[in-house]
Amino acid sequence: MPTDLAACEALDRADPLARHRDAFELPAGLVYLDGNSLGALPRATAARVADVIRREWGQDLITSWNKAGWIDLPRRVGDKIGRLVGAAPGEVIVADSTSINVFKVLAAALALRPDRRTILSDSGNFPTDLYMAQGLAALRADGRRLRLEAPEDVAAAIDDDTAVVMLTEVDYRTGRLHDMAAITAAAQARGALMLWDLAHSAGAFPVDLARCNADFAVGCGYKYLNGGPGAPAFVYVAARHQDSFRQPLSGWLGHAAPFAFDTSYAPARGIGRYLCGTPPILSLVALECGVDTLLEADMSAIRAKSERMTALFIDLVERLCAGHGLELASPRAAARRGSQVSFRHPEGYAIMQALIARGVIGDFRAPDILRFGFTPLYLRHVDVWRAADTLRDVLATRAWDAPRFRTRAAVT
Ligand SMILES: *Cc1c(COP(=O)(O)O)cnc(C)c1O
Repeated sequence: MPTDLAACEALDRADPLARHRDAFELPAGLVYLDGNSLGALPRATAARVADVIRREWGQDLITSWNKAGWIDLPRRVGDKIGRLVGAAPGEVIVADSTSINVFKVLAAALALRPDRRTILSDSGNFPTDLYMAQGLAALRADGRRLRLEAPEDVAAAIDDDTAVVMLTEVDYRTGRLHDMAAITAAAQARGALMLWDLAHSAGAFPVDLARCNADFAVGCGYKYLNGGPGAPAFVYVAARHQDSFRQPLSGWLGHAAPFAFDTSYAPARGIGRYLCGTPPILSLVALECGVDTLLEADMSAIRAKSERMTALFIDLVERLCAGHGLELASPRAAARRGSQVSFRHPEGYAIMQALIARGVIGDFRAPDILRFGFTPLYLRHVDVWRAADTLRDVLATRAWDAPRFRTRAAVT
């Protein structure tokens, strides 16, 4: 591990991904370690979205649904995301938000396992996934229920009453990875279906849904896919399941023939039935720019750099900040963590605000987690150094211990 700034500069000179940083607009002097929550802006996005607004919308108006291919965007961008997550063409579509996609595929999964009552998840899962499962169970009011186990106990808890196992591969707090292939195999061995949330996986490192034999997956457009705030999400349904049930949000764009204007719903064949209403074209165009910047790079090189950066950050923080009460919350083994590093500290919120005030942006997750996301396409090893060194300074000077850093904002 490098021990000083010069060694980090040497790593940057040897970095095969270094040129990709130029594909992003990044404010000078800022170290952005929150691309796991809102990805950075690709340079191509503003001009492309402006062209869609001025020309495709402004000049060509409604003809753009055909002429500019707007109607095909959910599938086209879905197929591009499919290349990042190991799905075949026609298995991924862009639609709605991750929360809504969780609802759609959970409902589909329950329909495929009518004799089983349980949606099984882990207590560390991201709350919206759990809330959507609770909402679906309440709506059905037929004894279906959400059961939660500790992350390390979830595989052993799969039983003959489990309809679907719903897990997020990367724990949003700690970055701990679940073993997708092993848990999927365990679920399917008991006759259950497997739903993976790839919110912190897609675009962060290689994912292979086909090799894992996953049944369903969902994921976010605005995190590592760099699609912009509120970008639409994606949903994956293995080809073998696509035509075997309906999803409940049976909007017209999921209909087999939306422009027949029939009074009865008949689902489209294939992944198209996972659409609901009219897609947000401006956001989809921005998402496509984000996905394109990732497709320019090699995912295994992204993973290699991510492992190197997260290991470097852990090493630097533990050395430079020793004695200030930080405790590593992420797995120490690089192979067991996603592209983030988290530390616990009782004053985590104020420390993070002090870091942000000094131009190092991470985020805070209650109750005590300082979270740092590493996006290899646009971060350098010198940024890792600066983040660790700034954290050292904030702790050593107690700069965080000021009233203005303790006032909680609406979004943490
Ligand atoms: C970020 C995230 C979401 C976000 O869902 P939205 O519907 O886009 O707000 C869902 N699940 C997980 C695991 C996440 O990390």
